[in-house]
Amino acid sequence: MGSGMTMIPQSQDRSALEQEQFLKILSREEAMARFEAALFPRAIPSETRKLADTLGTALAEDVTAPIDVPPFDRSNVDGFAVRSADLAAAGEGAPVRLALNGETIHCGTAPRMQVATGTATPIATGGPLPRGADAVVMVEHTQPAGPDAVDVRRAASPGQFVSYAGSDIARGEALLRAGTLVGSREIGMLAACGIAEVAVARKPRVAVISTGDELVQPGEVLAPAEIHDTNGAIVAAAIDENGGEAIFLGAIPDDEAKLESAMRRALADADMLVLSGGTSKGAGDLSHRIISRLGQPGVVAHGVALKPGKPLCLAVCDGKPVVILPGFPTSAMFTFHDMIVPVLRRMAGLPPRSDAKVSATVPVRIASELGRTEFVMVSLVEGRGGLIAYPSGKGSGAITSFAQADGFLRIDALADQMPAGTEAEVTLFTPHVRVPDLVIVGSHCTGLDLVTAQLAHAGLTVRSIAVGSLGGLAAAKRGECDLAPIHLFDDRSETYNTPYLVEGLELVPGWRRMQGIVFRKGDKRFEGLSAKDAVAAALTDPACIMVNRNQGAGTRILIDRLLGGARPEGYWNQPRSHNAVAAAVAQQRADWGMTIAPVAHAVGLGFIPLAEEHYDFALVTARKQRPAVQAFLDALGSGEARTALERAGFRPA
Ligand code: AMP
Ligand code: MG
Repeated sequence: MGSGMTMIPQSQDRSALEQEQFLKILSREEAMARFEAALFPRAIPSETRKLADTLGTALAEDVTAPIDVPPFDRSNVDGFAVRSADLAAAGEGAPVRLALNGETIHCGTAPRMQVATGTATPIATGGPLPRGADAVVMVEHTQPAGPDAVDVRRAASPGQFVSYAGSDIARGEALLRAGTLVGSREIGMLAACGIAEVAVARKPRVAVISTGDELVQPGEVLAPAEIHDTNGAIVAAAIDENGGEAIFLGAIPDDEAKLESAMRRALADADMLVLSGGTSKGAGDLSHRIISRLGQPGVVAHGVALKPGKPLCLAVCDGKPVVILPGFPTSAMFTFHDMIVPVLRRMAGLPPRSDAKVSATVPVRIASELGRTEFVMVSLVEGRGGLIAYPSGKGSGAITSFAQADGFLRIDALADQMPAGTEAEVTLFTPHVRVPDLVIVGSHCTGLDLVTAQLAHAGLTVRSIAVGSLGGLAAAKRGECDLAPIHLFDDRSETYNTPYLVEGLELVPGWRRMQGIVFRKGDKRFEGLSAKDAVAAALTDPACIMVNRNQGAGTRILIDRLLGGARPEGYWNQPRSHNAVAAAVAQQRADWGMTIAPVAHAVGLGFIPLAEEHYDFALVTARKQRPAVQAFLDALGSGEARTALERAGFRPA
């Protein structure tokens, strides 16, 4: 195979053509067809490996058994090797006495004496049958008759308790076929035949490069505006999981010269190159331009009607696949699994992936973009009438939406939604459905992890799905969870949570979270003031920027009360979490905001307490007696959990 160094002249015509090609969004099927047509058929190189190193590889050739297994006629039980004809008349009331031959056959002992008529030889399980014998009787059906004889109380049929030579594997038999994935059972069969080395498909060497000025490797400290390289690790692992051998080459900045030289080096050495990032056709969009100089035919698809994953770029450079995955980790993983894994497995000589699928009901409507095949990650829980598939609420930038989901469902390109109640097919990430012991759906709080830690240590699985207080309440009403954590303030009664409960739900008090104003320590505009005075002072300073919260958040109600109708600079910055507020202030995008004390303290911010928020649980009464629910209630009331909550800055109710 060439090293992919062919230079293509960059004529006007050609770049115009490329431009057109990149702008054309292909259907998933069309993109896949073009990619495969450019790659296959191709020879699968093979190599000889020691048996112990073959796990997860595909056999390159049919393997024929070189010997019989077992290699000799062998006893299956502890007992006596006999001639069956001698025992034709034997029975419980009429034992037949046989004279013992002067040897005992253990495993690994070759017999020396013949079993003549009227005699028997003691034999162990696995011992070779001696000459003259045609059956074995179990020791349980015999009685010693002095040192030199044995009484047998059962008749024996010829061949009884004997495994004949070659009865398991016959010499010359096709033992395993080419393309078989080698697992422990296959290794066992090969070992039984004495095979120490086999020809297997050589694992495709796949170079992995992350691209982006903002990327640093795990283990290094983040500077402002930097993020950790997630794709490098996840793509490399997924390659190894699917029969390849990943060679991770690190993250390369968005620099055309550096990137091109890294890509050329990678292609010289590897069978395939997988990049991620830089596909979004912005200023940093370099990789696909470089690809057009790396070999023929170059880019075969750039832009696929997939969600997530539209910017996917597929190319073949002188026979080697080159792929640019989208930058967002979730998009990168979906496109990798959907479009790259089939190709990688084919190159590795492996059969297509067979993922387990289950049917589950979608509890809420899922909106979808018309014209793009959409993949939605879901968490599975047990509902009243079977499995429920909760869509993961996080966007394609969220790595946890992939790691915490049980699988995904597919919404057809021609559909603009999946209605609530749809019975959907879910492709599982694991071989089996893992229904959790305890399901918590609602608002998330770091304090919750301190309580559920005890359940996890006791071997109970807890699934916590963050959909906000109102979403949790709705799930509890439908009986889809055990508990819904809520912190809903009722303006009329000026109380938390209780007014929101309905028939079938009961309140389990959780803990209190102190809400207050956060600011950077040392900021004279806030230090030493009450929350009310601090906000009043902030409103008089036009240079002071706030960070707000989303509509519907309990915190937002408190902020609006403090502002009394004012709309200061930063009001429209409305993140959805306590942590985002703290990050905005700590990183100086804002000067003040409202969050809970534990979060403020964790980031080292100044904090002015304002009001206590009640974080409680709506318990589905019908599920109260379930052992995992009882375990949760025990954990919640335990001294251990209370101490942990207090240490983290919460006040147990
Ligand atoms: P890009 O396609 O390079 O514009 O990237 C799109 C988004 O994905 C940006 O927010 C990037 O920071 C992010 N991203 C790109 N590569 C990685 C990576 N290796 N790990 C984590 N995030 C990434
Ligand atoms: Mg980038």
